[in-house]
Amino acid sequence: MVKNIGLFWLKDDFRLKKNLGLIEATKNHDKVVVFYLYKKKKFQNQEAQKWWVGKSLDEFKSRLKKFNINLEIIKTDSYKLFFEKLYKKNDISLYWNRTYEPDYIEFDKYLSKNLEINKINFKIFKGNILNEYIEIKKADGTPFKVFTPFWRNAEKFYLEKIPSNEKKIFKCKKKISFFQNTIETKEIYPKKEWSKKFEKIWTPSEKNAIEELKIFINERMENYSEARNFPYKIGTSKLSPFIKHGQIHVETIWEECKKFKNKGVSKFLAEIGWREFNHSLINYFPYMLKGNYSKKFDKFPWEKNSKFLSAWKKGLTGYPIVDAGMRELYSTGWMHNRVRMIVGSFLVKHLLINWTEGEKHFRNCLLDFNEANNISGWQWVAGCGADAAPYFRIFNPILQGEKFDKEGDYVKKWVPELKTVPKKFIHKPWEINDTKILKIGKDYPPPIVIHENARSKALSAFKKI
Ligand SMILES: Cc1cc2nc3c(=O)[nH]c(=O)nc-3n(C[C@H](O)[C@H](O)[C@H](O)COP(=O)(O)OP(=O)(O)OC[C@H]3O[C@@H](n4cnc5c(N)ncnc54)[C@H](O)[C@@H]3O)c2cc1C
Repeated sequence: MVKNIGLFWLKDDFRLKKNLGLIEATKNHDKVVVFYLYKKKKFQNQEAQKWWVGKSLDEFKSRLKKFNINLEIIKTDSYKLFFEKLYKKNDISLYWNRTYEPDYIEFDKYLSKNLEINKINFKIFKGNILNEYIEIKKADGTPFKVFTPFWRNAEKFYLEKIPSNEKKIFKCKKKISFFQNTIETKEIYPKKEWSKKFEKIWTPSEKNAIEELKIFINERMENYSEARNFPYKIGTSKLSPFIKHGQIHVETIWEECKKFKNKGVSKFLAEIGWREFNHSLINYFPYMLKGNYSKKFDKFPWEKNSKFLSAWKKGLTGYPIVDAGMRELYSTGWMHNRVRMIVGSFLVKHLLINWTEGEKHFRNCLLDFNEANNISGWQWVAGCGADAAPYFRIFNPILQGEKFDKEGDYVKKWVPELKTVPKKFIHKPWEINDTKILKIGKDYPPPIVIHENARSKALSAFKKI
């Protein structure tokens, strides 16, 4: 047991299970303090995230109390400046888990070097990932750019690892405070009333994440492969915000799933595989965080149209499945994956608006926002990503609605003005002739663009690149 103080830098690691950095700190030190660095600028365009982070900090703080550990929040504009002040302390050791974003990986290198120079003990641990991204490469040492061979290799590599014994957090002898000028979570929560709605839908905690996983495995996993496409049913796990904020480790998900042999398991784990793939992509090709992975899209003739963009954001495009998705996002901080693809395709192909605008809006509204999945998801939809959907494959929002929301239940839930519209018209309400049922233009907007025209326009735009 080391006499000095163990400091654990908390990022997206709101869990005790498989929190390697925190566990090691409590193993080595009698006194441990967990600190969270709140960089206001980082959250500038991530309003929904502030709600989840605020809740997670409150919950985790009270859990850590039982282990005699204080959680302290410090507001800072710069990680560099914050850590510089620590270099002068000679009674601390630092611990943290990796965050798989290029900026964090770069900062780890910088910080390690400076801690070494200043003779401060530190240790970095594996974060919320199955494989370190550098472990998975092609035989020639280059990164995978296509999902299927990536996952075949990544899954095999993971399976061949010797399972390590599960370590547990220790109770510290004495609870201490360490930092000055700490802040309360009220400085983090979004000011807008809108986020209050999340209270009724989500409970951000590790306990809840594990419970949700168990319910999903027992009740929904078997039919996951089919049910995952239908937005009205709860067919997926809805674990994404918990995974993003580290309330559950993907290894825990893997271990729990592998206990079951039903047919949904491999499909579900392949989706976790997409998350691994996306993290690998952004770290090997960090330029894609700022623009198109496929450079030929730099010449794409995107259009600027603030009226269209605003109608899309508000769920007022006149296409019910698109509008339902956008309203679900605003009301719940989450959107079904099938609908993410539909609304994304509509923005970039029907409205010819650059995918970066959609990415920005999702970033602001999603509780599960993460750079790897959001940027790659948008570039997949736009056709400019690695292993992306080809640009010329254009989703027809009417047919997508008729196929995946046959009864119109999803649309009616989120677009209540269409509640009385018969099933036959629910995905093309402009065809109703009876104004007693619906007045297009008054009760609900007419379609913002005509599908066939928008499709041809998108295809000729694509020909230009
Ligand atoms: C335009 C667009 C933007 C997206 N932005 C995000 C984002 O910011 N954050 C995010 O976590 N996911 C994003 N996704 C991926 C996907 O839509 C969500 O992960 C999924 O809908 C979350 O719901 P779930 O937890 O019920 O998923 P499940 O189907 O239960 O899947 C389990 C887990 O696997 C991972 N996963 C599932 N689908 C994908 C996928 N297509 N790509 C990568 N990982 C996946 C997630 O971690 C998810 O929680 C985006 C997809 C698109 C098309």
